[in-house]
Amino acid sequence: MNIKKLSNRELHKLALNYGRNALEWRRKFIGILPDIFERRVYKQYGFGSIFEYAAKLAGLTKEQVKRVLSLDEKFQKTPHLHALLVTGEVSVNKLARVASIATPENEEFLSTQVQVLSKSAVETLVRDEKFNREESVPGHGPQPENLSFSPEVQSRLIELQQKGININDLLLEFLQKRDLEIAQQKEQLGEVAPETTSRYIPAKTRRILTKEHGKCCSVPGCTRPAQAIHHTQRFALTNRHDPRYVAPLCKEHHAIAHSIDLKVCAERRL
Ligand SMILES: [Zn+2]
Ligand SMILES: [Zn+2]
Repeated sequence: MNIKKLSNRELHKLALNYGRNALEWRRKFIGILPDIFERRVYKQYGFGSIFEYAAKLAGLTKEQVKRVLSLDEKFQKTPHLHALLVTGEVSVNKLARVASIATPENEEFLSTQVQVLSKSAVETLVRDEKFNREESVPGHGPQPENLSFSPEVQSRLIELQQKGININDLLLEFLQKRDLEIAQQKEQLGEVAPETTSRYIPAKTRRILTKEHGKCCSVPGCTRPAQAIHHTQRFALTNRHDPRYVAPLCKEHHAIAHSIDLKVCAERRL
């Protein structure tokens, strides 16, 4: 093949192909490293250390090797994840992310997730899991950012507080009322949502979702912009845009929603 005669497009296609293969073989190499280490194969063939071996044979850094060996150790009680590491099916980068939350109970679930989700979606999944665990311990959740009250609201709240009114109860009551109001509006809209074949989500439904979540993802603790309106009930089965069963989601949570419930639903991009 004469490289010089290839068009840019052809050259790029070739690069993509070579790159993909390079990554695949590198993962395979990484997968057998724990055994090379355990059996001291590197010594037998005159290498001073496993690091020297991996650097000379596959250009791996010391850090990368350390990471692989520590993952091998961590995954001893989670055979599914361990298998993904040693067969090289999933990158060390992704596996390292789930290692911190992996248990014998959830490892089967995590193994399927790391295979279908992108790196950033895996990161989100891990963050959610940690968030949920922290939440169950009071006071250990992530610290909220500072509130930015306007001078007017601030002075009114201070005044109420000075008069002995519990402003936390007051605000909580307001928030509960808001939740209730939104829930009622969703129910009213949902009751009359007509059957339709149109994928278009009605403006009223969109408005109530915006009222509830702003322009953001609806997953608790997630503040990324919403990218799709996800049907939590399969649209093809119900043919209704019931606001109680649709949720705006960011790119990562949308991918997670689909990988968890592979009964794929219909939705509209925002
Ligand atoms: Zn969806
Ligand atoms: Zn999200």
